[in-house]
Amino acid sequence: MGKNIIIAGAGHGGLTAAYHLARSGYNVTVYERAAQAGDLGYEWEDFFDARTFEEAGLPEPEKGKIPKVPISFYGPNPADHPISQSFTNGEVEMHMFRKDLYAHLLKLVEEAGVKIVYGCTIHAPLFIGSRIVGVETSLGNFTADLVIDACGVDSPLRTNLPAYLGIQKTFSKYDYIYAYRAYFNRLEGFEDVKNEYKTYFVDDGKTGLAWAVTTEETVDLLIGRFEPFGQDEIDRMYAIFKEDNPHLGETRVLGGQVTKIPLRRPLAVLVADGYAAVGDSACMTVPIAGSGIANSIRAGKLLADAILADRNEEYTAATLWKYQKDFYDNIAGSMATIDMAKGFFLNLKKADFEFFFGNQILTSEDLSFNTNETSAKAMFAHFSPSVIIDRLKKVGANRSLIRRIGAVAVRIGRLRLTLSRMPDEYNRAAVVKWAERYDRLFAEKAE
Ligand SMILES: Cc1cc2nc3c(=O)[nH]c(=O)nc-3n(C[C@H](O)[C@H](O)[C@H](O)COP(=O)(O)OP(=O)(O)OC[C@H]3O[C@@H](n4cnc5c(N)ncnc54)[C@H](O)[C@@H]3O)c2cc1C
Repeated sequence: MGKNIIIAGAGHGGLTAAYHLARSGYNVTVYERAAQAGDLGYEWEDFFDARTFEEAGLPEPEKGKIPKVPISFYGPNPADHPISQSFTNGEVEMHMFRKDLYAHLLKLVEEAGVKIVYGCTIHAPLFIGSRIVGVETSLGNFTADLVIDACGVDSPLRTNLPAYLGIQKTFSKYDYIYAYRAYFNRLEGFEDVKNEYKTYFVDDGKTGLAWAVTTEETVDLLIGRFEPFGQDEIDRMYAIFKEDNPHLGETRVLGGQVTKIPLRRPLAVLVADGYAAVGDSACMTVPIAGSGIANSIRAGKLLADAILADRNEEYTAATLWKYQKDFYDNIAGSMATIDMAKGFFLNLKKADFEFFFGNQILTSEDLSFNTNETSAKAMFAHFSPSVIIDRLKKVGANRSLIRRIGAVAVRIGRLRLTLSRMPDEYNRAAVVKWAERYDRLFAEKAE
């Protein structure tokens, strides 16, 4: 024991792995770009699956678990009634300010003996042959027996890996979403406006999503787009929000930057000799919702388990393959299925949404899934065969929709088959071939 592990970037999954490894006697060092602990995280509240800490073997924070907040889905036509979620079985979820979540994780890792070096920007991986042996940083080169890539979506490690490792470096347009999020003041004089979590299906030629969440004191705005945008678009969307939410004030209280979120299946290959990717660097968000905290933290635990199981302390792609397999069995298979379904939703036009909302095709029960759910099965559990038949009957008049639903079902079938053929053991040639076949399924979808 006593092996050296580098955690590149203080991502959530990296910190989770760091916690477990340091407690088991490994020397773990995190190299983080932010100048100090207080700079980590964002100025807003996030929500994620309440089971996350327990499943990842982490002590729970004292506060954060609250009854699941129902979301109201608004169609593009203001005349249509929104569909509102309803939770009656005591469902709960975690709501935490990101900085409080970081404070909790940092306290855990520091108590476990992890060293954190702030103000250190990682530039690239270091190699001996094809093995990753360390990181090149603004503070010099550092070597280790294993590098865990927790640098987020634009990781300079992943993007500088040689192509022959089969780890995808760059992604396509619909694999990311650019998100603006900010809290504005809530104006007085609108006491009758209820607190509500409104999600909009905006379709004005710019595909994306948006929400306006009204609480006691603030209105939390999110604008998500598949291409970068600036202040003009924020101002344009603010005016649209204001029309529907007259209690929206002009003073920005928190947040206000545009950040990138991966919105796609996880990487086809997560490991190489001396290297493993976790969290946003490996695209572990729920592809429809963009929630990545729960999956990152869970994956961090699975990665630590695989490292601890490597009795010969080799940390090669072959020994880390256990992490890849466990992650695919528990999480990534579902995320890939949701990504395939995302293709269907992206292709919906304004007229389709109007058809859904106007004809009340979907019910509150249909949409009362947990948007942070990390299993496609649980997310769509309500859709029993009889419910599907009933909804298809309602859609029956719309032949184009029926055809597209059928096409996505066939693609999901092919995806499940390909997933079942992932190699059981790591052999680079076989793994790279499998990864190419798997990624091709999604490229076909995009056409
Ligand atoms: C607007 C918005 C809202 C979101 N809401 C939710 C939500 O409600 N629920 C949810 O589950 N998820 C949400 N997410 C997604 C969530 O933020 C990520 O999925 C989650 O943080 C997991 O990412 P990560 O920890 O792997 O990477 P990150 O959070 O990106 O962390 C990466 C870390 O690496 C550091 N780093 C990056 N590059 C370098 C470098 N070159 N050198 C050194 N350090 C580096 C960064 O400073 C950072 O500390 C949201 C994201 C956004 C942008």
